Amino acid sequence: QISSYWQEGTPLAINLAPTVDLPAALAQGKARSRKLVSNELATLVPSRLADAWASREADWQRPINEASDKALARLAEQLARWELTPTGTEGYKKAEVTLGGVDTKALSQQTMECKAQPGLYFIGEVVDVTGWLGGYNFQWAWASAYACAQALPLPQAEPAGAAH
Ligand SMILES: Cc1cc2nc3c(=O)[nH]c(=O)nc-3n(C[C@H](O)[C@H](O)[C@H](O)COP(=O)(O)OP(=O)(O)OC[C@H]3O[C@@H](n4cnc5c(N)ncnc54)[C@H](O)[C@@H]3O)c2cc1C
Repeated sequence: QISSYWQEGTPLAINLAPTVDLPAALAQGKARSRKLVSNELATLVPSRLADAWASREADWQRPINEASDKALARLAEQLARWELTPTGTEGYKKAEVTLGGVDTKALSQQTMECKAQPGLYFIGEVVDVTGWLGGYNFQWAWASAYACAQALPLPQAEPAGAAH
């Protein structure tokens, strides 16, 4: 899903504890606990992540009540903004939807017919409409196909006895 938004070469900032107010939780931990920073942190994020993260700085490898406010603030800040730059996506082999396509401005939004070329229609994936993963792209393919099919002229019935 992220790869629909990511621009190649740019870093991503990931909040590893999006539902926790980390500065407040660590300050509370410091006020009431003598556990190691990693053990206190393990009550807020998965314990293997807490261990791995706390091992990155000497200031975090001590009882939380002995850690400086600055060190805890740094810990909270870094966990909320873990930056990494992906080396790339896995490309079309793994892609589930394509960005880009035929500009929607070129099409009738009722019939999907090309404004500049009557009789030519574009639907689904080939149009520049990209849904989130999880059903929206099928929905778009089916809905645009339905709208288009409703607008297609019915084939003319052939006169009886016409040669094939
Ligand atoms: C691995 C994967 C998982 C996905 N999972 C989901 C999901 O969970 N939910 C969701 O909403 N969307 C999902 N999608 C996206 C969804 O499948 C597409 O958005 C949708 O199928 C697009 O429908 P479409 O009819 O426009 O195009 P397609 O389904 O791509 O149909 C185009 C058809 O045209 C044929 N074709 C191509 N060139 C020619 C030619 N020259 N002559 C004749 N025929 C040709 C192709 O063989 C193909 O059958 C997934 C896609 C992939 C690849």
